[in-house]
Amino acid sequence: MKSLLLSASVLLLTLHLHAANAFDERWQFIYSATIEGAFADGLTNDDVDRILRKSGDGVYEHFVYACPLCMPVINALRAYRERPPLFGYKLSEHQDRHRTLGDGLDAALRAKLASDRVEPRLEAVNALVQRWVDRRLKLMNLTPDQRKTWNTRLEEGRKEGMKMLEKFRADGSLKVFAPGFANLKECAVCNAATGRPAMGGAK
Ligand SMILES: [Zn+2]
Ligand SMILES: [Zn+2]
Repeated sequence: MKSLLLSASVLLLTLHLHAANAFDERWQFIYSATIEGAFADGLTNDDVDRILRKSGDGVYEHFVYACPLCMPVINALRAYRERPPLFGYKLSEHQDRHRTLGDGLDAALRAKLASDRVEPRLEAVNALVQRWVDRRLKLMNLTPDQRKTWNTRLEEGRKEGMKMLEKFRADGSLKVFAPGFANLKECAVCNAATGRPAMGGAK
């Protein structure tokens, strides 16, 4: 138990992931869907920081470390956060202040993201990722067969993510790798990418 309290960064270092295998088509799909969605929805950096909320140990609370669907969402939001101001256009107040395209999230979703309970926050993260993945899939204009292939790919990602979550729970490292999921069984982002509600249940 004591080694668990070692700094998260030390442990993350021992488990760092190999980019060569990780940045596959599915990773890039989720990454693109997230950046695209963040701009289209006009996310503010406060929204991003709430999604990328960290535990006291400095670990992302709403994500499962090493989950193949969570990791591209985290990285895309980190990239979005560094966006420059838009050049050459007369912008709305929101677009100008937040350097983005859309008008911002609706109040209900923002309230959920700002909740002090983890469940509403995960519901909001799940709703956003679900929207972004759906938007991207529609834009890809897939044939039914291609769509089936993508569904399978995303389901496989969810299985891997769930396996990581179960592993962290079993070896007692949840606090370091998925601190938001002490009382929750399913990865909210994996569920979003496969059209499931945050906490799981019927599809
Ligand atoms: Zn390595
Ligand atoms: Zn996940």
